[in-house]
Amino acid sequence: MVRENEIRPGEVAVAPPQATDAGLVFVGLIRTPWTSRLVTPRQGRADGPVCRLEIFQPWRQALSGVDQFERLEVLYWLHLSRRDLVMQSPANDGTARGTFALRSPVRPNPIGTSIATFVGIEDGTLLVRGLDCVDGTPLLDIKPDRTLFKPIAPPQAGDFETG
Ligand code: SAM
Repeated sequence: MVRENEIRPGEVAVAPPQATDAGLVFVGLIRTPWTSRLVTPRQGRADGPVCRLEIFQPWRQALSGVDQFERLEVLYWLHLSRRDLVMQSPANDGTARGTFALRSPVRPNPIGTSIATFVGIEDGTLLVRGLDCVDGTPLLDIKPDRTLFKPIAPPQAGDFETG
């Protein structure tokens, strides 16, 4: 069930420390067809509507080469979210789970991520499908989907050690 800012049975809010700016820079604005959280999909779909990532200057040049990737990871700031819940009840049924066990938009640092499908580039605007954020959501970053990305450097000793 989609939330706005209510506290539900079973949920726990805390008094978070004063939010401080970690130095994030919004690199653009995401334009989507959804004007409210209540109608925005819970997760993006590859066959969803085309959304526009309007890149601010001076970052437009950073789009160079993006068209080489079929899928892109898009990171955005879920700016309408409350940030103080440690236990949440996504179904609003009285049962709750910890925030770190959920992909809820309500988090101490409300960063959303989606794997989006590349559609095109128009004048500093990247067109993709597969997003799930409201119109006007700030854009944090764009990266090639890690499963498509081939590191430039050859593997180094220790890259694959697990312990
Ligand atoms: N795909 C991302 C992830 O997994 O990190 C976000 C998933 S989150 C469940 C998507 C939901 O966040 C939407 O259905 C909507 O209710 C809410 N949402 C979308 N844009 C938002 C915004 N700008 N601020 C707060 N909530 C937002």
